[in-house]
Amino acid sequence: DIQVIANPVTRENNIEGAVILLVDVTEKVEREQLRREFSANVSHELKTPLTSISGFAEIMQDGFVKEEDVKAFAGRIYKEAQRLIHLVGDVIRISRLDEGGLPYQWESVDLYSMTHDIFTTLHEAARKQDVHMYMEGGNTVLDTVPTIMEEVLYNVCDNAIKYNHRGGEIFVKLKDDGDVVSVTVRDTGIGIPKEDQERIFERFYRVDKSHSKEVGGTGLGLSIVKHGVKTLEGRLWLNSEPGQGTEIIMEFPKHHIEKNEAAE
Ligand code: ADP
Repeated sequence: DIQVIANPVTRENNIEGAVILLVDVTEKVEREQLRREFSANVSHELKTPLTSISGFAEIMQDGFVKEEDVKAFAGRIYKEAQRLIHLVGDVIRISRLDEGGLPYQWESVDLYSMTHDIFTTLHEAARKQDVHMYMEGGNTVLDTVPTIMEEVLYNVCDNAIKYNHRGGEIFVKLKDDGDVVSVTVRDTGIGIPKEDQERIFERFYRVDKSHSKEVGGTGLGLSIVKHGVKTLEGRLWLNSEPGQGTEIIMEFPKHHIEKNEAAE
């Protein structure tokens, strides 16, 4: 979209010419539209559990719940409150990534040690699910924005654990191909049906048929990943077979162009 700004140039009340500015506002308009859609979605997602919590609590307060049903009601309230906590956490993380248009700080980062730290953070979750985590490849250094890269890797690894079978495995493979670095996160989990594979990167989208509805989540994780990979000038795709597992492949340029130009 092009925005046209025209200003006449006058001298002694005579129009002598005009200054015409053509401004490409496509990205700005798209960003604003995304932001509006996001707020609408978040409001809806917040309202649903809050309405349930409020409804259940009101029925209990009015004394309409039999003694033996109190536990079940409290359980429903607890579950909805957990959903809210996850959602608010995700929203905070999204807004942190989008820090009001500040320029990102690109740095040289070793993905091997970053992945190692993420494994440490996820250790408890993996242990509970009896999922084993493995890393392939050695030190792999690239120019990146550490906070965003961490968020991307964390979300993909977290999913690989969450949507796995008990006793399953996840493998993170780092590969330096010269100009690009690839990061592959493979799991032996439940897989993603063909018809859902395109949609899982949409905000709030969750696969219905899998046990994802029982697993805590907001459907925001992979949209954060997609947005993050784009910001890091990378690309991503997936291979998945229901019942077999999923592989998320990401590829990043090793050097950030702007930074190199500034250095020269
Ligand atoms: P969340 O995990 O919070 O639901 P995500 O955006 O991270 O949201 O993922 C969207 C959906 O994609 C999940 O609900 C799940 O159905 C599916 N999914 C994501 N990663 C995997 C995976 N590794 N294996 C199987 N299904 C997955």
